[in-house]
Amino acid sequence: MTLDRSTLRWNAWGFAGHQEGFARADKLWAFLADALKTGALPQTPAKTLAESTLPSSRLAFGDLAAFQEAGCEVGVSPEDRAFHARGDSYRDLLDLRAGKLDPAPDAIAYPKSAEACQRAIELAARMDLAVVPFGGGTSVVGGVTPLTGSHRGVIMIDTTKLNALIAVDRTSLRATAEAGIYGPFLEAKLNAEGVTLGHYPQSFEFSTLGGWVAARGAGQQSNRYGKAEDWLVSAKLATPKGTWRTEDFPASAAGPRLTDLVAGSEGTLGLITEATFAVHERPTARDYRAFLFHSFEEGRAAVRAIVQAEIPVASLRLSDEDETHFFGALSRLTNPPKAMHKVQDAYLKLRGFGGAKCALIAGAEGDAELVAYARTRIADIAGKHGGMGVGTSPAKSWLKGRFHGPYLRDPLMDRGLGVDTLETAAAWADIPKLYTAVRSALLDAMKRVTPNGANGICLAHISHSYHDGASLYFTYLWPRATGGLQAEIAQWEAIKGAASDAIAANRGTISHHHGAGTDHAKWMAAEKGPEAMNVLRALKAELDPTGIMNPGKLGL
Ligand SMILES: Cc1cc2nc3c(=O)[nH]c(=O)nc-3n(C[C@H](O)[C@H](O)[C@H](O)COP(=O)(O)OP(=O)(O)OC[C@H]3O[C@@H](n4cnc5c(N)ncnc54)[C@H](O)[C@@H]3O)c2cc1C
Repeated sequence: MTLDRSTLRWNAWGFAGHQEGFARADKLWAFLADALKTGALPQTPAKTLAESTLPSSRLAFGDLAAFQEAGCEVGVSPEDRAFHARGDSYRDLLDLRAGKLDPAPDAIAYPKSAEACQRAIELAARMDLAVVPFGGGTSVVGGVTPLTGSHRGVIMIDTTKLNALIAVDRTSLRATAEAGIYGPFLEAKLNAEGVTLGHYPQSFEFSTLGGWVAARGAGQQSNRYGKAEDWLVSAKLATPKGTWRTEDFPASAAGPRLTDLVAGSEGTLGLITEATFAVHERPTARDYRAFLFHSFEEGRAAVRAIVQAEIPVASLRLSDEDETHFFGALSRLTNPPKAMHKVQDAYLKLRGFGGAKCALIAGAEGDAELVAYARTRIADIAGKHGGMGVGTSPAKSWLKGRFHGPYLRDPLMDRGLGVDTLETAAAWADIPKLYTAVRSALLDAMKRVTPNGANGICLAHISHSYHDGASLYFTYLWPRATGGLQAEIAQWEAIKGAASDAIAANRGTISHHHGAGTDHAKWMAAEKGPEAMNVLRALKAELDPTGIMNPGKLGL
């Protein structure tokens, strides 16, 4: 069982049947126009597939038949090639919405077994085709762009027919699954066995196990369940040099752990066909609640104290002042006004939270005893840092709508607005400077490149925190350039480039969980340094001597 791709949009987020019905939409557009200091927002609809330009496939009938004989279904329809032409980055959406589908994959192979993956890759090498692995296609860094490199065409290998849960080891609390299984199907199967992986990225519904590993992703409960590199025990890959299965010991001193080379490899070394990963008993208790702080700084100190005190939290999500204000205002605008808001405002004012504030959602999961302990300790530490508990309902609304946010991007792009996100991570000592530098870089760049000097909006939060540091996640909106696709690309490059330079200059990583893809290639080389890039190149040359695996990604 897998998702029926015909129910998904090819150039926008999610299910085709989803209706983004904004209550009071007129108020929303007026609020955004005012915040951005721009005029009335224009209508900027995306082109349809019929209006788009799809290059002809370079593969002959015989080439396609060979992939079929290797055990793959093969897709070459315009719908299939358009769906696989890009991922979900802002840069990808600019192309898709403008109807620019060049480059496009020449064909899509859907292997039905790990052996068929191996045969397909060997066939691609013989045919001189680049291979681009494709899971859910939700990459936001250009990870699935069908680049040929020095090869004659691109075969995209879509893994979603590899979707079985292979084994659950209840004693070791490990499971093994095929790489193309989508998040909800994987969790449902694990839950039926009484366990959970607990990996819930915002893209959970439309992304796959293999994509999570390949991009080194993080779920919203990463504090408890870990990032992909933490829960990945071992992987099986189909490479141009043959099948590679990494070691699966719980710990070993027999040299470096090579499984770590697979997490974050973005398809450049081989196609992950199976992954073995740590699972947990399904939580029997959960507690998610919200706190307010007077400033981001105060909230950050609380988050740091909670993780450094080793409280067993599942999730700590702290919004900065602008994000707290923006989503609060949006929620009040798009929902009918309630008399209760006045009472709430008066109470907050009375408690000293009438002005700028930051919201923290803190969650714990496990058994009742663990959750009770975590809840008490979180409240205690939050209180000592000036935080005030505001109950469970803001946290419940966040949990309820946590996969819904991405549906907002397309209607905003339909009204002349650009919306993008980026993320980084740094040591706690570097976080204040990094936050200020990236935020200023984004706001300055947006101001510089928006039509008529309109403003941009920059929102930030911390959603993954560690003993020694945290990630920072930025969402930014700006009025899109007029003048066509090239002008829009240049505008985005200026904004993204300024933020990425600020990250590099302030001891942040170019990506905490989205990966490098094509968008971060330039900064990846600067971050790793020439020696490390040579090591990665040597590794790639060993497994992929002719460089067919996902050319142009990771800066390789
Ligand atoms: C709205 C939105 C929200 C998101 N939220 C999060 C989030 O909360 N956390 C997070 O970590 N990420 C997030 N992402 C980014 C994205 O969902 C992740 O990178 C995800 O892990 C990609 O999975 P996928 O199956 O869609 O992979 P794809 O997009 O198909 O591929 C991602 C990369 O991995 C490679 N790849 C895919 N499958 C394989 C395989 N089997 N073997 C080898 N290489 C492979 C691809 O070639 C590509 O380079 C978000 C994206 C969007 C659009």
